[in-house]
Amino acid sequence: MQHNQTFADWAEITPTARIDRDSHGWRAKCLQRLVRLNLPVPPVVALPFSTVRSIAQGWQPDTAAILARFAAGQLVSVRPSSENPDWGGPGTILNIGMNDARHAELAAIHGEDAATSLYLRFVHTYAVHVARLDPDLFEDERPCPGALARALAAFAAESDEPFPQDPARQLADVLRSMARAWEGTSARLLRQAKGAPADAGLGLVVQAMALGVAGPDSGAGLVQFVDGVTGRAQVTGRFRTGMQMPDPVGGDGAMYLTRDPRGPSLEDTHPALFAELTRHGAACRARLRDEMQIEFTVQQGRLWVLDATRAPRSSRAAVRIAVQLAEDGVIDEGEAVMRVQPQALAELLHPQVDPRGPRDVVARGIGASPGAARGRIVFTSGAASASAARGESCILVRRETTPEDIRGMHAAHGVLTERGGMTSHAAVIGRGLGLPCVVGASGLRIDTRANTVTAPDGRIFAEGDILTVDGTRGEILAGAVELLEPALDEAFTRLLEWADAVRDIGIRANADTPADARIARDFAAEGIGLCRTEHMFFEEDRLTAMREMIFADTAQDRRGALERLLPMQRADFIRLFDIMQGQPVCIRLFDPPLHEFLPHGREGLRNLADALDKPLSEITRRAEALAEYNPMLGMRGVRLGITIPEIYEMQARAIFEATIEASRKGAPVVPEIMIPLVSARREVELVKARIDAVAAAVRVQRGARFEYRLGVMVETPRAALRAGEIALHCDFLSFGTNDLTQMTYGLSRDDAGRFMSTYVQQGVYPEDPFHTLDVDGVGELLHIAADRGRAARDGLTLSICGEHGGNSESIAFCRAARFDYVSCSPFRVPVARLAAAHLAL
Ligand code: PEP
Ligand code: MG
Repeated sequence: MQHNQTFADWAEITPTARIDRDSHGWRAKCLQRLVRLNLPVPPVVALPFSTVRSIAQGWQPDTAAILARFAAGQLVSVRPSSENPDWGGPGTILNIGMNDARHAELAAIHGEDAATSLYLRFVHTYAVHVARLDPDLFEDERPCPGALARALAAFAAESDEPFPQDPARQLADVLRSMARAWEGTSARLLRQAKGAPADAGLGLVVQAMALGVAGPDSGAGLVQFVDGVTGRAQVTGRFRTGMQMPDPVGGDGAMYLTRDPRGPSLEDTHPALFAELTRHGAACRARLRDEMQIEFTVQQGRLWVLDATRAPRSSRAAVRIAVQLAEDGVIDEGEAVMRVQPQALAELLHPQVDPRGPRDVVARGIGASPGAARGRIVFTSGAASASAARGESCILVRRETTPEDIRGMHAAHGVLTERGGMTSHAAVIGRGLGLPCVVGASGLRIDTRANTVTAPDGRIFAEGDILTVDGTRGEILAGAVELLEPALDEAFTRLLEWADAVRDIGIRANADTPADARIARDFAAEGIGLCRTEHMFFEEDRLTAMREMIFADTAQDRRGALERLLPMQRADFIRLFDIMQGQPVCIRLFDPPLHEFLPHGREGLRNLADALDKPLSEITRRAEALAEYNPMLGMRGVRLGITIPEIYEMQARAIFEATIEASRKGAPVVPEIMIPLVSARREVELVKARIDAVAAAVRVQRGARFEYRLGVMVETPRAALRAGEIALHCDFLSFGTNDLTQMTYGLSRDDAGRFMSTYVQQGVYPEDPFHTLDVDGVGELLHIAADRGRAARDGLTLSICGEHGGNSESIAFCRAARFDYVSCSPFRVPVARLAAAHLAL
């Protein structure tokens, strides 16, 4: 095998050696930093990617020469060092160099037990991971001379040769097996799934081992100086005497690091050593500019630092650590912002399942709204409300939710549906309310008669049983698991202030209710980008008036019903304007098909007949007449506004009267009114003329002045293509990418969940386009519309308000297309603020 190396086959890690992360891997680079910090790192040699690749192909390095770099008889370990620690790699192999002679020497110095435990461990590891013998033959045994002899005999019998005694041969075999393991198909697929490129390299480091087994003054440990869950300063980790590697469990010789009433600690037994460790931790933090986890061994009272890696941390800890590092001047504010992944913030806004606790997963679905909630199962919205009235928390379990479930969703602490996808009703409302929600848990069977839900493994849960919804991971857990509370603390606020200072695209919230608006303000949204007014009509008193309006026989009767709705709408808008304190509020006129407001089933229709004092037959006939084959493409949005103009007129009046009222008390309000589902210019002209007329009438009646801005929601492909002529009649265009995606693909947003996972798995779509903006198709329509709209009208405001608004890819798209803002669910606002800052930095 030809081996053409362009630089050294291997290099000893010294302060000046040429060690690079992209040729030797992160661990080698990290070790060099520790060496440069003058930390007591045992001698170490690094093999670059090119050497390891040659070894995998059959080339043999001069391992005797490598070993000559270490003291005679020195045991060594080999560890993986790929470019990115997340890409994994073969497991570390310890105690290379152990053989009969070394065993005898060590037994004489440290005792038979210690020496045998090292040798036995090496024989096991070598047999299973290097010689690839059957692990069952080398099951762990307590170290005793008999066990060692048995292991050596088993090795000889299985591999037809005695256990290799030559350390150079042992090292060569270990290097080869690790190099080949990296090239294996499953290892390759695994790391590619974590984002590694196809040709990702592996480096290896060969390091002198400190013998942690040499008596009570020896051992191994791990330490970090922050709590990995909270991020607060605190020494955490473990130490155990008689060990070579920090062991995850307690057991003989385990001790605490800091003084602890429960038992002995390293701080008590070895105060100087503990102080030294603390100094090294501080040096690492200052110079490596992060909180590190230090792996160390102690050999007869002397401290060795084997490694220092980024301390593992939860999302909330990541925020606190980044902010604290910046406040201590270790990194700058921009870097702190960049160190927290936007998605991670979502975890801080809601309670989360405590990662330290057990998880008994009952079912999996799509994590449609993050956070965790636990409660008793209820199967109807009525039961959810009853449970809220009793002060009990409940999980609403439905096949799917409909607008009628809004009250139930308000009352529930979590929602689980069998059907649906990222933009199904439950998902959209769940995110809006910050309600943990798992949808599309298709393995579940809900029996609405028996009031039970059956898990894929056959377990049956009845009404009243307790479940935990983990909307972050899309999992349902049995029982009430431990939760971590939201972490909206000063570190969170500080980080987002730094993010706001650099971002260059606006972030608004989609908010329908005063509660949403308050959250939007708390999360520093710069206004409301979409208020879906129809959600205001589902409350009990309004629903009746709404139904009266729908069943009115004459325009006169319809006006009567709408007049009853007017003060309620006006009060809604006054509250929104008050909460938003002069920030823009964009109100979308009524959008959904009217039949959504009708009751389902005969019983509901009968009640309605009673309430409206009309014959059941007439109610049934009218309800049937409202049914559409394809309601999402039917009589909704501006089409209702054109055919039943009284609805929009009532809404416009409510908005203007609220504007006058709110402006009197506080900052002047300039409401934004948005027309949904436009597909033709003339629709805008007609609606605009009517709204202008209402505005003029209100000005005269109230003797007040106010301005308003009119906008069009671009959510049909035709509106995107005709944006030029549409823009002539409005001040802003807001892209409703939920409907636009639905119509561009011809893909029902309510039904796509059924086959979306198959489509994504088979690579038909790279992602669910209702979740990740389809930049190629829908994106092209956005570009066309933006260009044509801007060409027609200077200063046209452009934005996006579909469910895509809050995610990083869509924000990147909108920023590149120079949109003015994105609007997303209130709970996505912090994520969007940070994502936008990342893009600007
Ligand atoms: C949209 O279609 O993108 C939108 C925001 O409106 P809705 O989801 O209410 O249809
Ligand atoms: Mg829409």
